[in-house]
Amino acid sequence: MSASILSALGLTEMNSGTYLGNGEWSKTASAGVLEAINPSNNEVIARVQASSDADYETIMTRAQEAFKTWRTTPAPLRGEAVRLCGEALRRHKDALGSLVALEMGKIKPEGDGEVQEMIDIADFAVGQSRMLYGNTMHSERPGHRMYEQWHPLGIVAVISAFNFPVAVWAWNSFLAAICGNITVWKPSPKTPLSAIAAMRICNDALKAGGFPDIFFLFNDAGTDLAQKFVDDRRIPLVSFTGSTHVGRLVGERVAKRMGRSLLELGGNNAIIVDQTADLKLAIPAIVFGAVGTAGQRCTTTRRLFVHESIMEDVVGKLVNAYKQVESKIGDPTQATTLMGPLTDKASVQRFLAAVEKAKASGGTVRTGGTALDRPGNFVLPTIITGVKNSDDVVQTETFAPILYVMPFTSIDEALELQNGVPQGLSSAIFTQNLKVAEQFLTAAGSDCGIANVNIGTSGAEIGGAFGGEKETGGGRESGSDSWKAYMRRQTNTINYSDALPLAQGIKFTV
Ligand code: NAD
Repeated sequence: MSASILSALGLTEMNSGTYLGNGEWSKTASAGVLEAINPSNNEVIARVQASSDADYETIMTRAQEAFKTWRTTPAPLRGEAVRLCGEALRRHKDALGSLVALEMGKIKPEGDGEVQEMIDIADFAVGQSRMLYGNTMHSERPGHRMYEQWHPLGIVAVISAFNFPVAVWAWNSFLAAICGNITVWKPSPKTPLSAIAAMRICNDALKAGGFPDIFFLFNDAGTDLAQKFVDDRRIPLVSFTGSTHVGRLVGERVAKRMGRSLLELGGNNAIIVDQTADLKLAIPAIVFGAVGTAGQRCTTTRRLFVHESIMEDVVGKLVNAYKQVESKIGDPTQATTLMGPLTDKASVQRFLAAVEKAKASGGTVRTGGTALDRPGNFVLPTIITGVKNSDDVVQTETFAPILYVMPFTSIDEALELQNGVPQGLSSAIFTQNLKVAEQFLTAAGSDCGIANVNIGTSGAEIGGAFGGEKETGGGRESGSDSWKAYMRRQTNTINYSDALPLAQGIKFTV
């Protein structure tokens, strides 16, 4: 199975992890080796040669050269390059989706869904390439024209997390490309194969279409090159997706050199279910949100606030649903599987530690709470009641399928609880009460970047801007006007008169 997925994507047992440009993959064999591990059995799928300092310098030099041409290539033509990438991804969707499932551990439909997100953002970027609009303003001076335009930044660094091993790169690099930038990508060391495969598919498509190199890739055996990347003054924008802990370090270092960073960090997402909620919608949304991707999405539902009058009914229904999921835990590449493994043994340990911590805080495990005694990193989806929102364990993002369920009495209280965490990514309410739904969406409602009504917290569409507030980092990617993050704004005033009036009516005669 694994061999056929690899060969469909041109991967072998040992692969170069560095795309140097000019169709060249580095032959460096002295910078360490990354092992891509199948989290379902902890066996090595294939190996990847990490990049050296010299590789990194070659990439940066070539990326700077590439930018000189790409920045003046007409934006709609840049869109055509991205269109070709989208078409190539359509052709490879099945194989790449399977590799994502194999290497990351998400189930095959979610692996395919991730590739679909790449295709969707490619389509979006193609349209956007004709809509890089700037405003025009009326000048206060006669015979003057004033407008703003958007120019590319240069090299965009993308550092991505293991849980979305290919889509995050596409969200960034496709928009960055139509904006006239060159992207250099450092993927997660846990998912190097998916990154190499995605890079191959897109770069082969660009080459066949007669386009130059606009996407580069390196893999770091440790974090030395990644840190050099973050500190590199040749890079005006660092787009980082990962934990709040590492994102804080990255954000501080980029700010120190006055670079820009786009931070997409951890979430601690909640759903509120009031007494009017349609449970036929709420229960499946909660289960998908809390259990999907084995709780390893930034938008995973981790906290659930239920009106006290229906609390036990909701918990009972959820426990029933969780029992059905339990019988469908297993190899994520199999069609019947609903929940795959955690990414590694350390994640299983963090899951178990969080369950113990919740119990020590007075929590009761209503279902799950243990790891499975079988090869791989499998745990049971878990529901815990009896904890408080202010408990340390509830305030923390544990990247595993643990759902803390807590009661509330009034909607004001529920909102306060939902907002009462350091993170601010995704939020949702299930209600049939229009006033409550609208209150949830006001300036005094949810403080998150994403706020949904009668839809769960995870599974965003690419058309909207994606990201969150507070310790989630404040970045926005994907749809709406997120493209602006990859460009610099320039305000232009043109004098076509024979006089030189100064702004604000200032007289300065010499
Ligand atoms: P992580 O922070 O461990 O790693 C993320 C990336 O940072 C990896 O590529 C890693 O190699 C790199 N890195 C590690 N140390 C570094 C350093 N010192 N300098 C520069 N780069 C460094 O995160 P993870 O475990 O891969 O991913 C899970 C986390 O990502 C969760 O917190 C999740 O919520 C978050 N996430 C957020 C979003 C979002 O859009 N908000 C999306 C996906 C994942």
